[in-house]
Amino acid sequence: MGWQAKWCPLFLELHRSAHFTRKIYRARIYLTLASFFIRVLVMPCILLVEDEPAIADTLIYALRTECHEVSHAMTGTEALEILDKSGRHDLAILDVGLPDMTGFDLCRKMRETSQIPILFLTARDGELDRVLGLELGGDDYVTKPFSPREVAARVRAILRRSRQSTKI
Ligand code: CA
Repeated sequence: MGWQAKWCPLFLELHRSAHFTRKIYRARIYLTLASFFIRVLVMPCILLVEDEPAIADTLIYALRTECHEVSHAMTGTEALEILDKSGRHDLAILDVGLPDMTGFDLCRKMRETSQIPILFLTARDGELDRVLGLELGGDDYVTKPFSPREVAARVRAILRRSRQSTKI
């Protein structure tokens, strides 16, 4: 048996497996691209502005479980920068007690350029604060301590309402 006959099946096999690997590799690229477009086009994007890491973490977890994409900011300034860079947020959750400004101040600044729905989170539950938050353009109000599930349900409801109103 000549060396060609001996090695040829091996080369063929190698060629076949390389072809197969290329196919798998290509399929993985298509899947990654598809999941990226699904995320960009379908998943609602939420801006969460909350300076307490424990609260932020539980909310981020609850929102991501509901297939929302979440951007997190610890301060009002950071939130404004995020909004400036990416105009694709569908809703903002604002803590009222932030280190650099109140959530109400942040809402006022956001309303100069954006009409996205706003949900306030606050430790205070005075009627005045609730009224002020809503009058400044907030869409809903949750008082701490809250259940992350309740916040996620309110987010769903606000997004549903805002989608319906954009359809009309
Ligand atoms: Ca706070």
